[in-house]
Amino acid sequence: MREFEFIDDLMRRSVAHPNVEVGIGDDAAVLKLDSKRLVVTTDTMVEHVHFFSETPAACIGHKLVQMNVSDLVAMGAKPKFATLNLSLPSMSSDWLEAFMSALNSALSVADCVLVGGNTTSSAQMHLGLTVFGEPLFSKPLLRSTASVGDVIAVSGSLGGAAAVLNQLYELPIELRALDNPDYTAWHRPTARLDLLASLAEATSMIDISDGLLQDLAHLCQQSRVGAELISASIPVTDNATLNDALHGGEDYQLLGTWRDLSVVPTGFRVIGRCVSEERILLDQQVIEPKGWDHFHGAESNN
Ligand code: ADP
Ligand code: MG
Repeated sequence: MREFEFIDDLMRRSVAHPNVEVGIGDDAAVLKLDSKRLVVTTDTMVEHVHFFSETPAACIGHKLVQMNVSDLVAMGAKPKFATLNLSLPSMSSDWLEAFMSALNSALSVADCVLVGGNTTSSAQMHLGLTVFGEPLFSKPLLRSTASVGDVIAVSGSLGGAAAVLNQLYELPIELRALDNPDYTAWHRPTARLDLLASLAEATSMIDISDGLLQDLAHLCQQSRVGAELISASIPVTDNATLNDALHGGEDYQLLGTWRDLSVVPTGFRVIGRCVSEERILLDQQVIEPKGWDHFHGAESNN
């Protein structure tokens, strides 16, 4: 079974509950408690899967926060509280100091407080962060609410993280351990919390963690629309290729839809339009996503 088939299965099995406004299947869950709503998301980073053993601990701590904050922003929510689950083969003070100080500083920039967690031993490092947020708008931003005719836009250039990761695979181990500014796109991505306040008019939203096409496909599937993209309008990071931008993950930019061009916020670049036929066209050719699937590597089609 593929990762996304499993998630589809979880969505089908999920049970309606009066306090659950949004359950499994979006970037985060939205829970109603009396008149208040709480938005919750979680992500795990695993050694050898999400980072090299040599990856600097500070980069891992920083990124763990960004990947969760990015999911909250994609729901239109502001981070408030976090819990941290650490499973580690050893308790190296130096590693923990670097990891925790980067994690705490990224949480502090997001105005988010660590309120708990759990620490255990394990054969390899597993680092899980759960972030709780507060919605900024009267309705959450969803993957399932794009309409035919909406314009599709992204919040920044894509492919940078994939280009750096490809480079890191080729490097000797000692060079991977450097907190080199050339590796920033993969080592230290920045979730687009700066754009949160501008998202009120979006008709749908997802963050790009698994690749532009893969995440657009999730949005299209849940909104029951297709998409037509123009390659020349897709912003590609310097030193990355269009292929990196289309299929590479971990850029943590936002992908959203708007009723028309006039309401697309500053900072977003229009790359295409939603259409009724449920497939993705790039320059009028059908294109399949090849994002990351945890159980089938990088070449899966979903
Ligand atoms: P994202 O890339 O935005 O973090 P994922 O692809 O990881 O989203 O997950 C998609 C949806 O599936 C989310 O709503 C997530 O909470 C849910 N999900 C993923 N794995 C599980 C699981 N093991 N149990 C319950 N829900 C899950
Ligand atoms: Mg997401």
